Amino acid sequence: MTRTQSILALLCFSAAACWLPPAARAQPRPAAALVNLYFPQIADGDFAGGRWQTALTLVNPNEEAVSATLRLFDDNGGGLRVDFGSGLGSQFDVTVPARGSLSVATAPSSLPVRSGWARVYADGPLLGSASFRLWLGGKAVQEVTAPSALPGLAYVSYANRDLGVAVANPNNRQLRVDAKLRLANGAELPSSRIVLPPFGHTAFNVKDRFPAATAQDSVLTLEAVDPPVDEFIAWTMNTDASGTFSSLPAGTVVPPYPHWDRLWNAFLRVGRVALSNDLLRTLPEFRILDGQEANAYAAGGKEIVVYLGLAELLGDSESDLAFVVAHELGHIVQQRTGIQLFHENEEFDADMWGALLALEAGYDPYGAAGALAKLAMATGSAGLMSQFEQQLSADAHKSFNTRLEEVYHFLVMVCNVNDETRAACRDYKRIMHPHLPDVPLSLPGLEKSGYRAPDLGKLREAVRRERAMRGAEPMQPPPDRSHPVPAGIR
Ligand SMILES: [Zn+2]
Repeated sequence: MTRTQSILALLCFSAAACWLPPAARAQPRPAAALVNLYFPQIADGDFAGGRWQTALTLVNPNEEAVSATLRLFDDNGGGLRVDFGSGLGSQFDVTVPARGSLSVATAPSSLPVRSGWARVYADGPLLGSASFRLWLGGKAVQEVTAPSALPGLAYVSYANRDLGVAVANPNNRQLRVDAKLRLANGAELPSSRIVLPPFGHTAFNVKDRFPAATAQDSVLTLEAVDPPVDEFIAWTMNTDASGTFSSLPAGTVVPPYPHWDRLWNAFLRVGRVALSNDLLRTLPEFRILDGQEANAYAAGGKEIVVYLGLAELLGDSESDLAFVVAHELGHIVQQRTGIQLFHENEEFDADMWGALLALEAGYDPYGAAGALAKLAMATGSAGLMSQFEQQLSADAHKSFNTRLEEVYHFLVMVCNVNDETRAACRDYKRIMHPHLPDVPLSLPGLEKSGYRAPDLGKLREAVRRERAMRGAEPMQPPPDRSHPVPAGIR
């Protein structure tokens, strides 16, 4: 069997799922689709002459159904009980069908108006929005919709004295945020401190906290008092004396990025690819640690550990992050099956898995180069990393440089399988890197670099054995964000 035929077999080794680059599968991956969705405002209940109603809408762009857990919190951080049509509750498990959507709206409950916030943790990326509908005299008269948010350390919004503001605390510790208002004439009003209990929430109009605020165009800034602990979610609603209201652009300031949420996003996206291609029967435990280290490793076929410091090193690129997480999933495949499919060096082999899984999950394959280059920098004279995975620092630096030189080789290997994958990679390049020069697709020096034709029969047999040993377990959404060192998702 030639190498080309072997890789073709790899790319299509399960009848149900063909390993083709995303362009070939045309699966839509909206940038705003995330596995962790936060809704800074929920309003539900009756007032004299009217009622507020909240609807949450989830859209699933994936080819498979997505399971999600929805939790609602009140101002004090307790459960906010609402009726989505099946009785009062503050936690709901829902399934969003493949390429489908799901909308839940609060039913009339005769309870007085209460507000709070909500979060959705899902086992696949979803698009989420919250709609607030005002009923007067039994008639729906106005509605405004807000997209889901991610936590941040600062928020900027248009403001006037009537602006509606919601702030929520997604952490299991007290939150402190300072609200600052700059008036149209440039004057800064004395700041107002917001203190929220764990999982707490508040909603107010600007004039409640800033009596000197005017109807003129102003700017509201919310700032964490003690970063990075005081991460919060916020939302503002434009309104004025007329009583009408409208949405405003999301004002969360980045950087810094919410790395906890982005790591889970990358893990579950590449994890879904490994599961749907029958490489793994269950995902390993995924742990995020917050010690002062830039490190990641996979252990015993059971767990992947990533330090927040590594996510910060890779910075604003989720594609870099996805390559590292997929590389660790490659080690999990090695550890569970005892097989290195592409290369006798376990790091080169895991890099190949990293590129393949990240590519099919819809990430930029050049993220491999970004990640390895930053790791090479950090293990060099910068000395940011004393150890990465099981390697010693001196070897690690040399190893990262060597692996970096191989990135182009293994991307060529993935793309140069047959006419179909060549066409898919060309499409992908047209979309992702249209202004980079064209390069001939060839296989320079792959054998010299130790890459080999993968033995698929052996891998299939090993995966079957591993699956028989572990049995079936359902995929889980991320654990509660409040625990930076979670006990594990199962
Ligand atoms: Zn590794």
